Amino acid sequence: TALNAQVPKLSDPQSNLLDNVDVFIFDCDGVIWRGDSLIDGIPETLDKLRAAGKKMFFVTNNSTKSRAGYKKKFDSLGLDIPPEEIFSSSFAAAAYLEQTKFKDTGKKVYIIGEVGICDELDLIDVPWIGGPNDKGKEPDMGPGGKLEHDKDVGAVIVGFDRHVNYYKIQSAQLCINENPGCEFIATNLDAVTHLTDAQEWAGNGSMVGAIKGCTGKEPTVVGKPSPLMIDYLEEKLNLDKSRICMVGDRLDTDVLFGTDNGLKTVLVLSGVTSEEKLLSEENKITPDFYADDINAFFDS
Ligand code: PLP
Ligand code: CA
Repeated sequence: TALNAQVPKLSDPQSNLLDNVDVFIFDCDGVIWRGDSLIDGIPETLDKLRAAGKKMFFVTNNSTKSRAGYKKKFDSLGLDIPPEEIFSSSFAAAAYLEQTKFKDTGKKVYIIGEVGICDELDLIDVPWIGGPNDKGKEPDMGPGGKLEHDKDVGAVIVGFDRHVNYYKIQSAQLCINENPGCEFIATNLDAVTHLTDAQEWAGNGSMVGAIKGCTGKEPTVVGKPSPLMIDYLEEKLNLDKSRICMVGDRLDTDVLFGTDNGLKTVLVLSGVTSEEKLLSEENKITPDFYADDINAFFDS
């Protein structure tokens, strides 16, 4: 197959990336860790970047934990990361509700997802139902054979849920189709994830796909590649986008997030994307540079 030889390696002496970037946004799985294992050399590389005066943020599409949950994960891997540098798609969902003043509607949220989304909604005081509470729940059908749904649900958030089942899908469908103005929010659309290194596992794209399939509606996506997180950072921190670099292992979330939003981009091969896939003619998403892993910042 023909190779797209246009993508330079980060170690290319011309890359000069560190001179042109003040802020790094790191994807987590495939960049900092793989599953529960820290990738080699990461603590030293992050220390060197901080010593060089670089700001950094860590942005994961995995909604199963809250920001506090990720803080614990960083701690358990021996990485001392300030909480304000950590962002998750569970937080992005809450930030979207804040931005759209959802609380003022007096409605509640129906969650397909795990504890991360619930914890983030608790922090902003938005009432929710579903989530882990629906785990293995038997249908509560009235005499007419109806699954009753809550008419006060004004938004359905769909995140990764290892206990998703038919009745949760039906509850979401009823809220979205029958409650006037009910929003359909997806934390992320990752097709597959690496719950274990042994194989690819169905990602949140499958849960969102189920709800799209029965409602015919498109979700508002809050995780990468949606601009929500970068707009949030830009507004809160007054950052210059042209001096921010997004570093990730996925083309259709991380690199697209960067290229769509005017950031510099680096694809690392330490996660889900192979060099063959990156350089193949079929790939239309091109980072500025690529590298084996983020330790390559200090290789040249
Ligand atoms: N969603 C789930 C459920 C995951 O397990 C993962 C990775 O482990 C992701 C999303 C992707 O996370 P990240 O954006 O950190 O690569
Ligand atoms: Ca990743």
